[in-house]
This record gives sequence, C-alpha cells and structure tokens, in this order.
Amino acid sequence: MSSAPFIGVLALQGDVREHVAALTRVGVRSGAVRSLDQLDACDGLVIPGGESTTMSRLALIDGWFEPLRSMRATGVPMYGSCAGMIMLADQVLDARPDQETVGGLDVVVRRNAFGRQVDSFEIDIEMPVVGSEPFHAVFIRAPWVESVGQDVQVLAEISSGARAGTIVAVRQGSVLATSFHPELTPDDRVHRYFVDMVQGRV
Ligand code: GLN
Repeated sequence: MSSAPFIGVLALQGDVREHVAALTRVGVRSGAVRSLDQLDACDGLVIPGGESTTMSRLALIDGWFEPLRSMRATGVPMYGSCAGMIMLADQVLDARPDQETVGGLDVVVRRNAFGRQVDSFEIDIEMPVVGSEPFHAVFIRAPWVESVGQDVQVLAEISSGARAGTIVAVRQGSVLATSFHPELTPDDRVHRYFVDMVQGRV
C-alpha cells in the first residue's frame, strides 16, 4: 500500500461529507463511494451515521451487500459510526423486519436504544486506545451494544450516570464501530485510530 491510503466513505445515505473531512484532516486520501466499482480502490471503508433502515433498503436495491461482505471477508478494514455500527452488526434489536446488515461484528446492537427522551446527548467517555484524554462523544438516536462475542474488544463504555457501563465502541479484527459520531467534533483521534488500523499499525 502507498503511504497515503485511500479510505472510502459509503455514500448511500448519511453524513458522508463529515467523515471525508475528518479523514482528510488526518492525512489520508478520502472520498465518497457512490458506485460498486469504486470499492476496489478502497484500502478501508467508513459506513457513516444516518438512518440504517434507509441505508439497508438502498443497499438491497443496488446490490451492495454481497460486495461489501466479500470486501470485509478479505480483511479490508471497515469503520461504522452510529447507523454504520448497525450496518456492521451481526444482530440488530428493534430493527425493521426486512433490515439487512453487512455483518462481521459479533455483537448485538439495539437501535435507538437510549430512548426518546434522550434522543441526542453529548458526554465525555474514556477510550484508552485513542489516548488518555477523554473523548467528547456525540450521540444522535444512537444504538448501544447490548452484548459482545468473545472475539470482540470493548474500546469504550459510558463511565458515569444512569447509563454507566453501556458499551459504545468496539473492535473485532479489522472492523471498528462506535455508537457515537466522532465526525461531528474536531477531535480526530478515532479517525486516526482507524487509519492506523488500515495501515496495520494497531
Ligand atoms: N437511529 C439511526 C438508525 O437506526 C441511527 C442514528 C444515527 O446514525 N445518527 O439507523
């Protein structure tokens, strides 16, 4: 791989631009992936936040699931934030009945888990793999991780308050996922961590 890998952002739906901007700030080449033939050029792929039911429907219509699953199976690193986390989960609770996922992450996630009263909130979390400074995490109608398989590494949990202990960031091999949206804050450490995964440094 060249020293500046290309990391695509799946552009079916969601906050594509913000991820491209964060990846660009971190110093890699990045761009929206709108057609299947662009997947081959990707050294890594981000699945953004948005609405996973819509993403799933659009992916089904245009035949994205098989190419994405085989890309993941060959070990191309993937990172999903929020709706993207749902798209990478093996099992989704409170999904629409026809909702499919790419899978690859041996977790059970619950959609819209934090409830209507707290649709959106921001909280500092500890995420040691990105450093000792707390990470300011933005949650928007976020899923949480309800359980993880034995090969899944928990990277962050909510540390205080009513939701203390809730898992909000995980990694399994080449697949990374967060319930929150690091692309919406200026702190690029999660994107840098993903780039390090793509470059085989972590
Ligand atoms: N609730 C959304 C879903 O189910 C995710 C929200 C988000 O990505 N901000 O897809």
